[in-house]
Amino acid sequence: MNDPDRGRAIRADDRAHVFHSWSAQRHIDPLPVAGAAGSYFWDYDGNRYLDFSSQFVNINIGHGYPKVVAAIVEQASRLCTIAPHFANDRRGEAARLIAEHAPGDLDKVFFTNGGADANEHAVRMARLVTGRPKVLAAYRSYHGATHATMHLTGDPRRWPTDSGTEAVARFFAPYLYRSAFHATTEAEECARALDHLKQVIQLEGPGTIAAILLEPIAGTPGVLVPPPGYLAGVRALCDRYGVVMIADEVMCGFGRTGAWFAVDHWSVVPDLITFAKGVNSGYVPLGGVIISARIASEFDDRPYPGGLTYSGHPLACAAAVATIRAMREEGIVEHAAWLGDHVLGPGLRSLAEAHPAVGEVRGLGVFWGLELVRNRATRQMLVPYAATAAQSAPMNEVVALCRKRGLWPFTNFNRLHVVPPCTMTESEAREGLEILDEALAVADRHVVDG
Ligand code: PLP
Repeated sequence: MNDPDRGRAIRADDRAHVFHSWSAQRHIDPLPVAGAAGSYFWDYDGNRYLDFSSQFVNINIGHGYPKVVAAIVEQASRLCTIAPHFANDRRGEAARLIAEHAPGDLDKVFFTNGGADANEHAVRMARLVTGRPKVLAAYRSYHGATHATMHLTGDPRRWPTDSGTEAVARFFAPYLYRSAFHATTEAEECARALDHLKQVIQLEGPGTIAAILLEPIAGTPGVLVPPPGYLAGVRALCDRYGVVMIADEVMCGFGRTGAWFAVDHWSVVPDLITFAKGVNSGYVPLGGVIISARIASEFDDRPYPGGLTYSGHPLACAAAVATIRAMREEGIVEHAAWLGDHVLGPGLRSLAEAHPAVGEVRGLGVFWGLELVRNRATRQMLVPYAATAAQSAPMNEVVALCRKRGLWPFTNFNRLHVVPPCTMTESEAREGLEILDEALAVADRHVVDG
């Protein structure tokens, strides 16, 4: 759309009145977006962007998927909202479809408005059923921005609000590229990370630990794919010490990794799975907790102490039903797996060969992370962990080149994440890889000999 005057007016309202997340308000310039379809969105100045970020890694089905839009319109014309204590057709169907894809005996769904409150409730359930206070959460994790989930989060966004009041103890999850355990193979990393976790449990006191909360593939911290055996090992530790295993699949669930849930890659069944984002691509806010039969049964006769006005909102659930049905009927999850195996994975690995600034490529499905470095041998990051705005300049140059060429990437500190919609076509993915090839040449300029 070409209407720069409208773009300017939107920008003026935004700058005057919208208070943005995570930002120093004077230092941002949000792009006014006019529309979006499929893998693209566009502004009011005639620029179109290939969405390699899926916004906040949430539009798994792409922008404006017609069947999902139609389902929301149909639902809006019939019943926009109804309080959570009523039964509702779309709410029930969404819960059933989610349960059908969930592993093991996870069969009931508590709906929330997004990912953070899903984690809040999962942790509350774990504390109630165990009668224990503490939660173990990983360094290099993101679990949300409410009070408790900010404390559970293991990234620098926690630091300004961390009051140390949430009974959280922390552990290192596997990250072979920057191993906390001086491991050099996946097998070593797996064994040492599990031994470390066991020691944390033993030293914290097993009888004090309600839950281990972890992202099966940590997303924002770098698309950290665990070595084979790690999640099964966590499951075994949870069983041994009576700890509830909570898998935060808010980012990695619903097709992102080329499976319905990331835990499916290793056939691991957690006690609770939290979800949001991809469940309906965020067309209407929705999240939730998928609950095992054992934990759900704890609340058969005693009330669950928690709820939300919009729990199971019909518009959001109608969008979830249409999304899950479309994903099922059209093989969208399988397509995401294919795209990862045949286009993104090989394409990114060959970019890594060509560009010395790429230290490592890791991922699966439509969930990839590139670790950008100044030196491959020392693995010095292109910009430091918790980089300030000034330190981020080299990454900003990479992003600027991408945007100039019409690609919208996702970045976090020294990492570039390739996280397009599951519905992206092969030719769109290749178009994005070509632009990344140019952008990585910008990063290469910062490479120094070790
Ligand atoms: N958990 C994970 C793994 C996430 O990536 C996010 C958001 O990015 C959240 C929780 C929080 O979700 P929300 O922003 O919907 O509250």
